[in-house]
Amino acid sequence: MEVLSKCKEKIQEADIVLMGFGREFNIKREDVLKAEDKYTLLKLEETQLTDLEKEWIELAIMYDCLNSGKCAIIETRKSLYNQVADYLSSMNKNNYFVVTTCFDDVITYSSFDKDRLVAPCGTLKLMKCDRGCFKYVYETDKVYENINGILNNYYKDGYVDKEKMVDELRDAMPQCPMCKQVMSANIVKSNNYSEEGYREQWDSYMSWLQKTLNRKLVMLELGEGFDTPTVIRWPFEKVAAVNNKATLIRVNEKVWQISEDIEAKALPLNMSGIAFVEEIVK
Ligand SMILES: [Zn+2]
Repeated sequence: MEVLSKCKEKIQEADIVLMGFGREFNIKREDVLKAEDKYTLLKLEETQLTDLEKEWIELAIMYDCLNSGKCAIIETRKSLYNQVADYLSSMNKNNYFVVTTCFDDVITYSSFDKDRLVAPCGTLKLMKCDRGCFKYVYETDKVYENINGILNNYYKDGYVDKEKMVDELRDAMPQCPMCKQVMSANIVKSNNYSEEGYREQWDSYMSWLQKTLNRKLVMLELGEGFDTPTVIRWPFEKVAAVNNKATLIRVNEKVWQISEDIEAKALPLNMSGIAFVEEIVK
């Protein structure tokens, strides 16, 4: 495919690379969970736990899958990210930044430099008050470790009754220090989503971006729709409009079209972002 080699050429020639991994790359929680016996045997739907409490248990299993390295879906995606990181590094493209609208955390386990990565749609590793008492975010590792500890005990000692386990799980829920209600993970679309979770990385991304002006920059917008256009889609278009040495590579199965004003600086591809990445790293 001629346009693919043109993209590779543009990346090769660039001084700076901006990667935008869109929602297409986000792994669905239910896809991971349905492959986990630990989850399916639980039959959470039969318990009296609230939706928020159930969500914490699902996230704890997800967290376990991310850390164990044993979940095939996660490992496949992680390996794809690693291949992209290797591809950039093989061409000495060390001046890069990665923006993602995924909130599955998989990319944070890849070999991309964490100082050059921002995920404005959230992470399961931070939580905040679900009712919005404050904007402060807390780390969640201990919560997941406690929940997984309870689940592991339950599976180990089959005689433990489920009622007792459910009570223990309820006690393990993180509580807001102010309103004493169960908190929630800081993931976009949750109640009272807090921007504090990614503010610092966003600021370093913005200062990095300022230094790209009038430099040979290539931007890859991969599989991003219109759920959160202010994160990748619109800012990339804006950069393409002001930087005459920029190239925007837009890869999308449904919305690959480019507006007229930046047409000359863009390469639109009507294909899946994942398939595109698999091609370029070959
Ligand atoms: Zn609160």
